[in-house]
Amino acid sequence: MIDVMTEPEPAIEQTEAFETLLARVGRKSPKIPAEVLVRHVMRCVPPQEWPARLEAMDALLRRLESVKSDALRIDARPGGGHLLGPYVTKRRKTDVRPYSTVLEEVEPIRGSCDCPDFLKNSLGVCKHILAVLEHLYSKPRLLQKALKEQGGESVPPPTGLRWDPIRPLTGAGDWLARVHWLGPAEANGRRAARGTEVTRLFRRDDEGTLVVRRSSPDDPTKRLALVEALLKLLPAGESGHRPDPALRVLLIGERKRLKWIVKQALSPAELKTAFRGLKRTLYPYQREGVERFWPTTWAWARPRRRSPRARSSGAPGASGAG
Ligand SMILES: [Zn+2]
Repeated sequence: MIDVMTEPEPAIEQTEAFETLLARVGRKSPKIPAEVLVRHVMRCVPPQEWPARLEAMDALLRRLESVKSDALRIDARPGGGHLLGPYVTKRRKTDVRPYSTVLEEVEPIRGSCDCPDFLKNSLGVCKHILAVLEHLYSKPRLLQKALKEQGGESVPPPTGLRWDPIRPLTGAGDWLARVHWLGPAEANGRRAARGTEVTRLFRRDDEGTLVVRRSSPDDPTKRLALVEALLKLLPAGESGHRPDPALRVLLIGERKRLKWIVKQALSPAELKTAFRGLKRTLYPYQREGVERFWPTTWAWARPRRRSPRARSSGAPGASGAG
């Protein structure tokens, strides 16, 4: 969730965009200062995408409204007296939400949640994260402590696998390509094997972040191998390890989907039989092409069923999961 977000333009507080978005928040956020929310939106959406920024602001405000209408409260908080870390929320008095919500930073806002809304809204927040933030921002003492924790040594910086929830506005937008590794790739002693695995799966991008080498969106077998390898790395972290609940649920879902696709792919013998059944003999290069692309093309070409309730992903939409 770090570094991949767009850098805010210099002194964003002085821009017209900042003022306009601030006015849009108005009095809709009595607990979290409007400035914090506006800075968050401006970090998520690049400056040249003004309509998308407005949409993102409105989408965030809708989620804030849901915190209120659902009367979301904190049900479980991080251990050891910490304020940053895993939370569970509940609706009204007793309705505990089945989601894991992790708050990493209060300003800039950074967190993760495994609710369906967070996975696809590309906002970097959901109503559960906002509920936790409202709780901390409403008490100056808690906020000060959280800010201190964020920059201090009592909680070591998180290490391990992380997922950036902000989908770039251009490009293929493969979520798996937005997985990165926090902390050093190299390791020795007991952790040497893991270090080697991190080096195999990740590369440093231009900004020095360790990002997934190849997410292989068109090769289910390779992609499945990557997903399995990442799942093995998931629980491993240094002492400062904090889980990324969104990433866990995405990887588990992807493994299930890819296993199904790989299982559907034809074996070489089945492919041979299929060739024999053709009316016209294929040229060797044509056969080669079919052999190369058959398992993937076949599986991907099938219309993917969508549940009637499925919403379009990408653009920030409705306030999503309960
Ligand atoms: Zn959530």
